[in-house]
Amino acid sequence: MAIQRLFIANRGEIAVRIIRAARELGIRTIQAYSEADADMLAVRLADEAVCIGPAPARDSYLDVGKVVAAAKAAGADGVHPGYGFLAESSAFARAVRDAGMTFVGPSAVTIDRMGDKVAARQAAEAAGVPVVPGSKGRVETVDEAVEIADQVGYPIMIKASAGGGGRGIRIAENSEDLRKLAPMAQAEALAAFGDGGFYLERAISSPRHIEVQIVGDGTRAVHFYERECSLQRRRQKVWEEAGATCLDEETRQDLCRSAVSLAEAVNYCGAGTLEYLYDPTRNEFYFIEMNTRIQVEHPVTEMVTGFDLVKEMILVCGGAPLSVTQDQVVKSGHAIEVRLNAEDPFMQFLPFPGKVGKLSLPEGEGIRFDHFMYEGYQIPPFYDSLVGKLIVHGKDRADAIARISAALEDLEIEGLKTTAPLHKALAKDRDVASDAFHTQWLEPWLEAGNLTRAQTGG
Ligand code: ADP
Ligand code: ADP
Ligand code: MG
Repeated sequence: MAIQRLFIANRGEIAVRIIRAARELGIRTIQAYSEADADMLAVRLADEAVCIGPAPARDSYLDVGKVVAAAKAAGADGVHPGYGFLAESSAFARAVRDAGMTFVGPSAVTIDRMGDKVAARQAAEAAGVPVVPGSKGRVETVDEAVEIADQVGYPIMIKASAGGGGRGIRIAENSEDLRKLAPMAQAEALAAFGDGGFYLERAISSPRHIEVQIVGDGTRAVHFYERECSLQRRRQKVWEEAGATCLDEETRQDLCRSAVSLAEAVNYCGAGTLEYLYDPTRNEFYFIEMNTRIQVEHPVTEMVTGFDLVKEMILVCGGAPLSVTQDQVVKSGHAIEVRLNAEDPFMQFLPFPGKVGKLSLPEGEGIRFDHFMYEGYQIPPFYDSLVGKLIVHGKDRADAIARISAALEDLEIEGLKTTAPLHKALAKDRDVASDAFHTQWLEPWLEAGNLTRAQTGG
């Protein structure tokens, strides 16, 4: 049934983004907030707002019982989980549905199947989608890990089944390393995700991270082309693009089609992203995981396709068939998003939860800024440091880079330290300009002092 009262079980910029989509659909919004978030922008923008608990996320945004009870009490008929927090929790999806509300995401069964990385690898293999060579399933013991690694080859990655946000991944260079790291990885994953399960994947050297956006209605799925997300720090994306200019047209089509066939194979409903590593030296791609939710970087895809992915996901999860066929998804130009985190890039990216002073935002053709700041807003120190995303659209990649560079010059957030200087330097970098980077490019670039050099004009 179409949603009429949507409960937003998240905070920050994505809550604002969801409110905007809901409003355009004529849906009433009820914003959840913790005691630390009483004055956040989404609370002011939503039709109604409900406090769900104290500042620590485990007592508010991560508490399934509290969130579901609050949504129910508010008379919501739908719940949007955003990204992070409970967005990929099958227990949450189940509890929302058991309480008689619509979960804006796939079914709990699909989340279990595609949100667990080992299960997703198996689903990909079954659908004929290539995966990174590695263990067949979960690895139970250290001896088993060593045996598999001897066949797969080193260096090898130890990855937590339940991992996410760049956490729960380690690299072993040899069997001695592996014997030492596997038990540590297991213990860490258990502490961080409540699940100590891990698996092994060959560490691909200097790959590209390329992902495909899909939306499904449970029967049919369409793709909205690919994104390039190789500029990463600590395995977290910092700069994202749509599309990936390193791919030839045939590979791009194969990649996007593989994502659709996998999504349809699991009767996917909602918005989702299939993440791949691409090895340019072999022109091969390998599926690594699926994010069964809207992603931080979805706006670049919206810029090049003209579709509103958040509206689409609300509609299909409310029971509507997909509003679009594959040939109606047409891509134009190139888009770039940079993540603005309240962190000091000159101090090892130390979080900087300050108070927003004077705010000057870039405006103009092809510029979008998704954020949740206003002058006088105190960023709470309890959550993710993402404060905004600057997104630009250009006629091609060079045009988009020029535009992001200019837009960053027009952006001024007084009172906070942000990652804007990093993005200004990247926008002027020669390797970035020539698209000559990969997932292991940014960290050595930072360690070599390129950011400081750019700052001092050296
Ligand atoms: P995306 O995959 O959308 O590019 P991220 O990987 O940065 O984005 O994740 C989005 C948000 O969700 C971040 O705040 C990240 O810390 C959080 N997150 C993602 N997966 C998990 C997880 N399994 N456990 C905890 N937090 C997660
Ligand atoms: P998360 O759930 O934390 O997002 P992913 O499996 O998506 O974890 O991997 C995050 C990042 O780690 C990738 O974008 C890539 O940079 C790196 N990575 C993951 N698996 C491999 C691999 N097998 N070889 C090389 N790099 C990898
Ligand atoms: Mg990932």
